[in-house]
Amino acid sequence: MPELPEVETIRRQLEPELLGSVIVDCAAFDHPKFTPAHLAVGHRVVGIRRRGKYLLVGLAAVGAAPDPTHELVIHLGMTGRLWIEPDDHHALEATDQPYQRARWRLDDGRTMVFSDVRRFGRIAVTVRNDHRGLNTLAQMGPEPFDPAFQPEPLRRGVNASRQAVKTQLLSQRLVAGLGNIYADEALWAARVHPGARRITRAQAERLSETIREVLAAGIAAGGTTLRDYRDASGATGRFQMQLRCYGLAGHPCERCGTPLARTVIDARSTTFCRTCQRR
Ligand SMILES: [Zn+2]
Repeated sequence: MPELPEVETIRRQLEPELLGSVIVDCAAFDHPKFTPAHLAVGHRVVGIRRRGKYLLVGLAAVGAAPDPTHELVIHLGMTGRLWIEPDDHHALEATDQPYQRARWRLDDGRTMVFSDVRRFGRIAVTVRNDHRGLNTLAQMGPEPFDPAFQPEPLRRGVNASRQAVKTQLLSQRLVAGLGNIYADEALWAARVHPGARRITRAQAERLSETIREVLAAGIAAGGTTLRDYRDASGATGRFQMQLRCYGLAGHPCERCGTPLARTVIDARSTTFCRTCQRR
């Protein structure tokens, strides 16, 4: 599933392509998760932000002030991909691509395509910053690179709940953007047991640092491709070559040599080091 580094990679690629373009037409797969796509028609793209794993395309009505009043919200789910086709060589209503869920035609003839094989993705068009219908987004914690993300609130948040620290990281409520890959990496780097229900001040400090480090490294490498992820140019990420824990069960821990262990925490496959990451 695309996590913060993958979504940020796509954002950086799409922004210069889309900025200033007017969305003039749309076709969407007939499903409530995707049919709001047409509500973006008649708007100019005035920016693309990212919040956690969501892309927020800023929209301003054509002829109105250039400040965004609405947002096209896109979540890539498990297998979502976004790209821009140079010109519209498919009729919007009659695409022969079975996994394309939405196509937006731009005023210069290009088309932005959202494809999603497994349909865990989601599209919404909202008034800017009004995310009431999107619970995960509405309740999302601070961005990891924002000064608001601090060790002490992280520690208090983890310790206030009975859930495992990894589950809390995946919930998006304490910090935005982590999924299974970068959570395992950050916990390993911070030497925090993924199933721990309490963390110390020192652990919270290390963890907030390693979260930023692994996400920054992921962005620098263009994201992680294990199976499905492709960026907006169709290229794979490169961070899979730098993974030190995720998916490496049985391989020796880089720090201590103990074979990394695999376990399941709240239904999520988890890799960790029994020696370095003690409860
Ligand atoms: Zn170890």
